[in-house]
Amino acid sequence: MCFYDQQIFTCGDHKWGRFRAHCNKEYRTGETCGMKLIFEASRVGTKCQMCKKHEVIWRKIAQAHERVKRWESEGINPVSTDKEWDNIAQWQRELQDINMMRHTKMRSI
Ligand SMILES: [Zn+2]
Repeated sequence: MCFYDQQIFTCGDHKWGRFRAHCNKEYRTGETCGMKLIFEASRVGTKCQMCKKHEVIWRKIAQAHERVKRWESEGINPVSTDKEWDNIAQWQRELQDINMMRHTKMRSI
């Protein structure tokens, strides 16, 4: 087990930072083992990259929904509407990918 800095984001996710110290067991070999312990945790005033990206895509989907709803209520632009639905489907797949990455990340800690 070795010590690392850790950054904690407002969303509750965290990221490992700089290597700080070896544990007693690994001290002599000068190697770092696979286990990570927190040396110093610092709070970051933002969300992590993944959550930020999630938020941006989420907002794009919401805006696209608004547009489509407006067009449909006005009865115009069927071509753009189809294209917008394609976009929404694409963004929803991206959200799924992000959620999946988050899960694998959680499990690997
Ligand atoms: Zn996050």
